[in-house]
Amino acid sequence: MTRIALFAIMLLLIVTTLLSATPGEDINALTATISAEFSGKTARQWGEAVTGVRTRLATDERVLALTLDACGSPTGKGVDLHLLNFLTREQIPATLFVNARWIDANLELFKQLAANPLFEIANHGMWHKPASVNGRSAYGIDGTRDLKELIQEIELNARKVEGISGSRPRYYRSGTAYYDELAVQVANRLGHEVIGFSVLGDAGATLPAAKVKAALSASRPGDIIIAHMNHPEAGTGAGIMAAVPLLKKQGFRFVRLSDYRLQ
Ligand SMILES: [Zn+2]
Repeated sequence: MTRIALFAIMLLLIVTTLLSATPGEDINALTATISAEFSGKTARQWGEAVTGVRTRLATDERVLALTLDACGSPTGKGVDLHLLNFLTREQIPATLFVNARWIDANLELFKQLAANPLFEIANHGMWHKPASVNGRSAYGIDGTRDLKELIQEIELNARKVEGISGSRPRYYRSGTAYYDELAVQVANRLGHEVIGFSVLGDAGATLPAAKVKAALSASRPGDIIIAHMNHPEAGTGAGIMAAVPLLKKQGFRFVRLSDYRLQ
């Protein structure tokens, strides 16, 4: 056997090993590997914009990324069909952060959304927990209690989304959008960019339509807008639908997160 043939076989072996190391890897083995990498590190930050969280698009162009969360709590399994139909009719792209429980409650719709090129599916966690390596909480919701639960929170929903849609999500937003900086690094390690926001669109689907409209109308080039698609009873949908024509008149267009580099 020639040296070149040997080299080619070795290269093939290395590539095969690398390829098989990430997506289908046993979750316990993956947890052990990542836990070893992060052992001895202490989280120092806690919030919505800690180190590593992407909050804007890296551009001065008049583009906006509309991101819609579907949280899947017992009262958060709804669908704002009016809003989704509007976005489809008006051809407004959006990035949809879906939680595993919401997928289970809306499986057929999820498949339709994932198959629609207007929308991009992103990861909103398995149990919708704040992303912590030590159980810190936000808004009274307990964060993931350790690395193991954090890895499962991100990875299990990534695999769920990929199993149904055929595409592994590239973006992660935790339940409540709270993180410590190590959790952000863990999400990166699992192949996700961590997405915050620069425009608080509906404050957890609590704002009336007029305030949602006002929040969106103040958008600047490159903003990432956070709002919700799982609360049809809220003011979110009406507020977005009122703001979109105004923003278009100001020369803005809407893009998906993957259309631009993140900042
Ligand atoms: Zn949520």
